[in-house]
Amino acid sequence: MGGVITISLEIELGWGYHDLGQFNRLSENRRKETKTIQRLLNVCDKYDIPLTFNIVGHLLQKHTPSSETPHMDGWFDSIPSKGDPLFYAPDIVRAIQQANTDHEICTHTHSHVICGKASDRVLDWELQQAKKAHREIGEPKPVSLVPPRHSLPSKDRLRRNDIEIIRRIGYAPALTPFHKFNQLVFEPPDPIEPRLVDGIVETYCSKYSTLSAATLPSGAEPPLPMFRAVPTAVRQRLHRRYLTRAMNKVAEQDSYIHLWSHLHNLANDEQWQPIRSFLKTLADRRDSNELTVMPMKVLNKHVRAQNTKTPNETLCQPEAKSLIEW
Ligand SMILES: [Zn+2]
Repeated sequence: MGGVITISLEIELGWGYHDLGQFNRLSENRRKETKTIQRLLNVCDKYDIPLTFNIVGHLLQKHTPSSETPHMDGWFDSIPSKGDPLFYAPDIVRAIQQANTDHEICTHTHSHVICGKASDRVLDWELQQAKKAHREIGEPKPVSLVPPRHSLPSKDRLRRNDIEIIRRIGYAPALTPFHKFNQLVFEPPDPIEPRLVDGIVETYCSKYSTLSAATLPSGAEPPLPMFRAVPTAVRQRLHRRYLTRAMNKVAEQDSYIHLWSHLHNLANDEQWQPIRSFLKTLADRRDSNELTVMPMKVLNKHVRAQNTKTPNETLCQPEAKSLIEW
């Protein structure tokens, strides 16, 4: 099997920013995001690479809730009632469903609620509505959750709502600005084995998005000023090297790594080039049995099967042991 790579991508569009009122990373009428998902799906079909798409459930629908919801007052006030492509995207989800590759549609909650701050009632509503929205488009109920901004809900709420696997941050914050720079540009996170904790599988990622490059524009937003003086081709080469290094680490250690980003981060030509090249190399290394690509729902079954076989063995490595208890 070799090393295992999981790739997940948030599709949240305007929902990711409606509580912040900042939409500057998104393109007008999400034209670039729509183009990017199509070319990403085409390349994934070409190389048979299955991804996990973490989708805000409301994007699957055509209008805002018509009845009362348990959210705090005003939560839906800035949302256009219908039609705005930044808030309604059933076409994007249809394109994922129509791809030849068996991608996963995971939930990113129904309205991008911050789980750690939400009441039980709100969380139950969010996960039940997401389940309903998945059912309405012919998808099975989601077993995977990527909580918005990695704000963790209680495991009790997850179990009650049939969630079996969650993506969470698995690394301590960078000690200094130098360490942070090094992590963003040169050094992908070390592999960490996923664990079954209190009935929920945890797969670990970095706080910073790792599939897209911090040195390149994030969607429609330019990169930080300190990177702009470096030629784009050099920054792209650095990110190709970063992604290759991630593959090398996980293959050499026969371990696990989870790379992630947002669809809108990828939505420009600068980001696309290293990602396309990475997907081709990943397919080559998968075909030579160095690496396996597992969406979250497959990883969930894999970890549970391993636990059944070796219930007394710990699956965690030192990095995971240092996680704050949840
Ligand atoms: Zn999000």
